[in-house]
Amino acid sequence: MVVSYDLDKIAKKLNLDIKDISRAFKKRIIREYEYKDTKILLFKKEFKHLEKGTVIFLNDNLDVVRGYPKTYRALVLYPTLKKHFLDKIVVEEKLNGYNIRVVYINNDFYALTRGGYICPFTTKKVKKYLDLSILEDNPNYMLCGEMIGLNNPYTPKYYEEAQKEDENLGFYIFDIRERETNKSLPVFERLKLCENYRLPHVKPLAIVDKEEAHIKVREIIKELDKKKREGVVLKDPNMDVVPLKYTTHYTQYDDLREGFKFFFDMGLDFLFSRVVREGFMSYEFKESLEERKERAKDIGEAIILPMVETIERVANGERVTEDIELIFDSEEDFYEYLEFLRKVKILIKIKKIERVKNKLKVLIGKVYNRTNDKVLAYLNGTLWGE
Ligand code: ATP
Ligand code: MG
Repeated sequence: MVVSYDLDKIAKKLNLDIKDISRAFKKRIIREYEYKDTKILLFKKEFKHLEKGTVIFLNDNLDVVRGYPKTYRALVLYPTLKKHFLDKIVVEEKLNGYNIRVVYINNDFYALTRGGYICPFTTKKVKKYLDLSILEDNPNYMLCGEMIGLNNPYTPKYYEEAQKEDENLGFYIFDIRERETNKSLPVFERLKLCENYRLPHVKPLAIVDKEEAHIKVREIIKELDKKKREGVVLKDPNMDVVPLKYTTHYTQYDDLREGFKFFFDMGLDFLFSRVVREGFMSYEFKESLEERKERAKDIGEAIILPMVETIERVANGERVTEDIELIFDSEEDFYEYLEFLRKVKILIKIKKIERVKNKLKVLIGKVYNRTNDKVLAYLNGTLWGE
């Protein structure tokens, strides 16, 4: 991509020194990216006051879209909630999909991934399923939400409420922010706007007093756990302090189960952080030895069973992949998405293509070379540490 840009102007727009922005370029913290004729710069890492995933559109306005901030986690509900929050706490369900920011820039809508890429798959789906006129009326806003469902390329999990005619996919807004300042609307203002514009959104499960929040949230978590749902995000009604997350035992179990299918591609911290969450939860929920053993059995199975299955499959000559079914409106859309995956270095194999009515149903297999290669090598006698 050949673009020349006015570093001075970009630095000003981002509130950075020209020296800093040059340094960010040199250190490859900033990357160029192009979708159709739209050119952007994106921050691959956090830099000064800018979040990872912050984007600047290379148009006349140099429109900025700030990255979605990290959400901190409570390991114990008490005293963390009481200490962190100011007064009331809005309890929202945490949906397990992928984070998307939808913006309206130069008369067009774009869906940005957490990393700041314009995702062609998601951009098309949100345009198709949502009336986005809220952004035409408020182009300074970004709609932040979770794309959930079985038929998505990043976090394929079935959600009942996301079922459409021919695919399990839906976008739920959990935050509306000013895209240049990253300031959130108060929770109730966001809810009202979503209702007025008939936009699908995450609804509060409860509003609780911070003094008794740990008791209420624990009850809610136990219910969500039974329903195999991910957890909660807790918010100050005015968004004056940052939200906190807390997840169910089921999620820890499910994450490990997925992670251990491709265990040599999984970071060690992925395992460790989930095990630690379980330790604190078991302590805080004052479990009996029996309950604790039940938890240990679940976690043990989540680790061992998928791992052995992978070893077995590789031993039988298979190359294991994570298979995901995606639905495209046209061949052109599919090829465009393949090109995107190539650019962001997600390795896939096409396993099946079917034409259903006038749609394209594609089974892609995500390739995990490290797991496959290492398992095969060890099975053939390679020594650990060699
Ligand atoms: P990080 O901890 O950096 O935010 P992560 O990828 O580890 O990132 P998660 O553990 O999934 O993220 O938790 C934060 C994410 O949860 C948010 O970025 C958002 O995409 C998602 N999320 C789902 N439901 C909600 C909700 N109701 N409110 C806020 N965020 C939500
Ligand atoms: Mg998530």
